[in-house]
Amino acid sequence: MPDDEMSPLRTRSEAARSLDALIIGAGFAGLYQLFCLRDRLGLSVKVLEAGGGVGGTWYWNRYPGARCDSESHVYWYTFAPELMREWEWSERYPGQPEIMRYLNFVADKFDLKRDIEFDTRVVSAHYHEAANRWQVQTETGETYVTKFLITAVGCLSTANVPKIPGLKDFKGDWYHTGQWPHDGVDFIGKRVGMIGTGSTGIQAAPVIAASAAHLTVFQRTANYSVPARNAPLAPEFRQYIKEHADEIRAVTHETLNGMAFRIEQRLAVETAPEERETIYEAAWERGGLQFRAAFQDMLTDKNANDTAAEFIKRKIRSIVKDSATAAILSDIDHPYAAKRPPIDTNYFETYNRPNVALVDLRKAPIERVSRTAICTTEAEYPVDIIVFATGFDAMTGPLLRIDIRGRSGVALKDVWVAGPRNYLGLQVAGFPNLFTITGPGSPSVLCNMPVAIEQHADWITDCIRHLNDGGLDRIEARPEAMDKWVAEVNEVASKTVFPMAKHSWYLGANIPGKPRVFMPYAGGMVRYRQICAEVAENGYEGFALS
Ligand code: NAP
Repeated sequence: MPDDEMSPLRTRSEAARSLDALIIGAGFAGLYQLFCLRDRLGLSVKVLEAGGGVGGTWYWNRYPGARCDSESHVYWYTFAPELMREWEWSERYPGQPEIMRYLNFVADKFDLKRDIEFDTRVVSAHYHEAANRWQVQTETGETYVTKFLITAVGCLSTANVPKIPGLKDFKGDWYHTGQWPHDGVDFIGKRVGMIGTGSTGIQAAPVIAASAAHLTVFQRTANYSVPARNAPLAPEFRQYIKEHADEIRAVTHETLNGMAFRIEQRLAVETAPEERETIYEAAWERGGLQFRAAFQDMLTDKNANDTAAEFIKRKIRSIVKDSATAAILSDIDHPYAAKRPPIDTNYFETYNRPNVALVDLRKAPIERVSRTAICTTEAEYPVDIIVFATGFDAMTGPLLRIDIRGRSGVALKDVWVAGPRNYLGLQVAGFPNLFTITGPGSPSVLCNMPVAIEQHADWITDCIRHLNDGGLDRIEARPEAMDKWVAEVNEVASKTVFPMAKHSWYLGANIPGKPRVFMPYAGGMVRYRQICAEVAENGYEGFALS
């Protein structure tokens, strides 16, 4: 639709007129971006948030066992020293309720909520070239007008509920883990069927099994998992965090994935088998995502990866007592960490419980749901509750469910019909003044999220400051810079084992009909940070400023 055919710019009220910036989403990203633009640059800013409170992904993902896989001392903001002094985490990995308390603490401390409209879902955002403004519409028909539009919508916030015939007639209850009821779900005395064995299902299964009468897990693709070894944080370690917060922050800025651990330099393929085994044993005992750091070549050399994969498969077979179940769980078809590697608390041990069963969907897929059962092509499994731990329309889903139109009414969904295209994961040519925080094409989900978020929000803030200081009011990615970046994203991914996981959400392969494109930037956060800094230093190279 050409610009002049669009409805005239309307605003919700005088107070909302002429916002400098509008942010969509009040999770980690939206909260910090609001602080940056409002308190550092003094702009008029609003956040529109679909949920009833702050938290983003954590607001919705309240499923049993929901916990972060990044360790708590790196899963926080580092922009204000007082935050790191005042907040204390209680466990090695923060659980969902504690993360919610933390984000509320931050929002209250900086009085952020007064500029957030909750229960407000954005349905469209259209750019008007003549006015150089974005017109943003909410589900309830309210309209906002803004110069800069920043999406902080998260990468994993559009729930994927598979279209299974018969679900609407199921007479029990069903839930998606990413849209979990705030009051929780009572599993006592219930037969539960849980579909999905990604990070979510692997966290949820042991907790559900502990209270349900029976749990049947429906597994399509077998998955690796390493023990999380969660535990309360010792008082000495809490003290250490307080005293070394700056050093810890510095390390997260130097590592590939924004974590506080460094990947070892040694190569698995050059390490003797016995020594390798000792190293993997120690990594297994230590637990957590750091398992991936045992060898430098784990994600770049399939032979090296095979050694890690075989180690974990052997562990699975040693934990799970029933050999048929162990065989299904360890029959894994992709390299370790080519899909996002889960970590767990007693996941494989859960299959030793008498009230837990595993169904292999590769042998017999789900055909339908009846009024009382999940039915595969081979058998019917009576259940009272179905839990969909079936993941998300990741990265592009949260953006494309908003009708985003750039110059001349061109829709983002059309520009991205063959997969996401942008420059630095930050901007799309033809969509001036629109910034995407941790969008596809940036390290995002391959990085510890708060680290990636702070880098993006800081870069966007500096960019807007630069425009304002220079009397400029428009920035837009150049098409040729976008093409080059898309090629770079593909090139770095092709040098890793990531594309070898055919069913990965990194590739969009979990959503029927979604283009298969490796979406995050796999070149590492350090390199990415450097590229973004150089682009800015070189006068925002690759962007047109006017
Ligand atoms: P996911 O990794 O996409 O896993 C979804 C699971 O559902 C997979 O086992 C998938 O099988 C299965 N599935 C999907 N559609 C299905 C269908 N139609 N029939 C049968 N099975 C189906 O989703 P997730 O576990 O929610 O995790 C998504 C991401 O969220 C994670 O990778 C992680 O980045 C993040 N996350 C983080 C944490 C944390 O930090 N603690 C916790 C949870 C999630 P296939 O593999 O065959 O597709």
